[in-house]
Amino acid sequence: MNTPLYLDPSAATATRVADLVSRMTLPEKVGQMMQLPGNDGVEAPIREFHVGSMLHMSPENLVAAGALADQTRLRIPILIGEDCIHGHSFFEGATIFPTQLGMAASFDPDLLERVGRATAIEVATTGIHWTFSPVLCITRDLRWGRVSETFGEDPHLIGELAAAMIRGYQGDGLGDPTAILATAKHFAGYSETQGGRDASEADISRRKLKSWFLPPFERAAREGCATFMLGYQAIDGVPITVNKWLLGDVLRGEWGYQGMLITDWDNVGNLVREQRLFPDYAHAAAAAVKAGNDMIMMTPKFFDGAQQAVAQGLLDERLIDQAVGRILTLKFDLGLFENPRLPNPEHQRAVIAQPAATALNLEAARRSLVLLRNDGLLPLDTTVRKIAVVGPNSDDPDTQLGDWAGNSGQAHWVQTGHPRDAIVTVLDGLRALAPQGCEVAYAKGAEIITTGPDPKGDFFPDGQPRPDIAMPVAPDPAMIAEAVEAARNADAVVAVLGDRIELVGEGRSTATLELLGGQVALLDALVETGTPVVLVVLASKPHVLPPSAGRAAAVIWAANPGLLGGQAVAELLFGEIEPSGRLPISWPLHVGQQPTYYNQIDAQHGHRYADLTQEPAWVFGDGLGYSTVEYRDLEVLTPTLTASEIVRARVTVANTGARDAIETVQVYVRDVNTSATWADRELKSFARVTVGPGESATVELEIPTAGCSIVTAEGERVVEPGAFELLVGPSSRLTDLLAAPFEVAPS
Ligand code: BGC
Repeated sequence: MNTPLYLDPSAATATRVADLVSRMTLPEKVGQMMQLPGNDGVEAPIREFHVGSMLHMSPENLVAAGALADQTRLRIPILIGEDCIHGHSFFEGATIFPTQLGMAASFDPDLLERVGRATAIEVATTGIHWTFSPVLCITRDLRWGRVSETFGEDPHLIGELAAAMIRGYQGDGLGDPTAILATAKHFAGYSETQGGRDASEADISRRKLKSWFLPPFERAAREGCATFMLGYQAIDGVPITVNKWLLGDVLRGEWGYQGMLITDWDNVGNLVREQRLFPDYAHAAAAAVKAGNDMIMMTPKFFDGAQQAVAQGLLDERLIDQAVGRILTLKFDLGLFENPRLPNPEHQRAVIAQPAATALNLEAARRSLVLLRNDGLLPLDTTVRKIAVVGPNSDDPDTQLGDWAGNSGQAHWVQTGHPRDAIVTVLDGLRALAPQGCEVAYAKGAEIITTGPDPKGDFFPDGQPRPDIAMPVAPDPAMIAEAVEAARNADAVVAVLGDRIELVGEGRSTATLELLGGQVALLDALVETGTPVVLVVLASKPHVLPPSAGRAAAVIWAANPGLLGGQAVAELLFGEIEPSGRLPISWPLHVGQQPTYYNQIDAQHGHRYADLTQEPAWVFGDGLGYSTVEYRDLEVLTPTLTASEIVRARVTVANTGARDAIETVQVYVRDVNTSATWADRELKSFARVTVGPGESATVELEIPTAGCSIVTAEGERVVEPGAFELLVGPSSRLTDLLAAPFEVAPS
């Protein structure tokens, strides 16, 4: 028998796709568009639904699926996806990096590219071809449960870091066996929540989308990101799943995107159930396919629905062929028909958690830490002979890894999390790195929450597990007394407070941003002892700190710093490294200030509530080192230019302290007069520079004028000729920025 054309590797991909599609039955084509989880095994998805893709697969299921796919009529390999979003999340013993938000504090695309590459190398050897990462959502309301999955609040930073991660994941091209498909998600506007509530209707105009929410996605599309995942929400009454303007006109049209679109979890069911746009799955399936969705995640009823839609004349089968074509193109491009990239246990042992990845992870952890305040206690010197380590997050391995890791709740096969001996908590780190003769005592001091079942049931209607309810635990006088005793006997206290993984993630938005449970009472008692306190906020997102935090000698944010986070914190405390992280997100004083993002449009009545300032505690870009730095002599070398030219400038960064300074030079642009209201200033560029003590460096800055654009009231993105200001400095705070004018001449 002749080998079918689609199995001929020398044939062009388009030819192979066309040949294969022509051989497929309608049920096979509809199944090819479906992605189902492996929770209940692989038999039904593969034999009954002919699925094109699976997700959430245990190592055993991966092996079984590979074998079963090979026995199907056309032997089409199954594309396996997983949320490997800060490392190979659910593969026991893999390298788990800090969360995306933690890594965003590095302001370092090169680091993110290397993290993406290292992750892909580990993932690719385990039979997974596709990561649902990176997240390009812009954080707005910090109460949202998914803040830690984002790169923070700035579209430029998000775009640069996401593009880098995509390059890392996809490597030298999909044919490279270590390349995995990246996903730009959640397209688009999902994070513009109502009150931080997950998946709520996003109240957002097209202009606002175009202005701030879409640019990072456009960057990802142009970077060649292989897939896009849609958000759950609706905008102006139109669920993203059927938003023809967004998916068709913008993504496929304006941006010319050729990749594959995947819905989020049961978006098609949502169209029928909660969003109530369609009476049945035939209509919903037809609408989803017509809008341009290729892969339908976790909607088993799509199988019958789409076939009925064709039978009832609601859907042209050629649209199904197109979607299947895009899915098969990726499978051919990955070379899966020649090498299905099944799990390779021997190779896994050789590549997972190898020293190079571990060293990179430590680098990422170090770079994720943000020093927010320091009265001079840090770095700890040799007079500190006894340290009291206190607080519920000093030794909590799961919270240190954060969401989407180990047993954070999404993977049924890793119930016990990542191996404890691979995780260095802050307590472990301090014990290991304390200089000889320096004692480390420990008292937990407080609990944060307990959890209990949600009376509404174990599952949401879309089949996802409903998270347990979190209940704050009252302060425990005995635990506090023990911690106070340890503090009194110490020269310095390291108090590690924050949230827990049960307070983080999908369906786990928080109503408050306070430190819950006994933590505030603990901190109050600790500062009363008079022993200097270093507050380490080990938390998925910024939290509102109590007044007693104002009496702490130093404050550090450690996001969820990954497997080696505790080592990095200890190194920072002992001065073995220079603090270099910068806030990728504003840090509020009070939950009622939400949202606090820096790039807002100025308000006529200033920046105060009657009872509180609207200024956050720390702004986007804030972060200290152990040295001091001054910015001087900002000079624009191109005072007048056209929109197609590059703004060139230079600034001097002087290290006025006694240690190395690792400085993130931040470049903002203000458009002085605009035809429509616009953000006062926007980050356009950033550069990292290391300056030795007493030295200074001249930093050359280049900003394409094309990027100094606004979106007009008519929705056009343009550079408007006229006056601009370049603002350069160590944070987004106006008083921190040097300013120099430039002028864009009409072209
Ligand atoms: C999330 C996505 C994720 C998907 C698969 C959804 O609930 O919103 O971000 O990729 O599940 O796990």
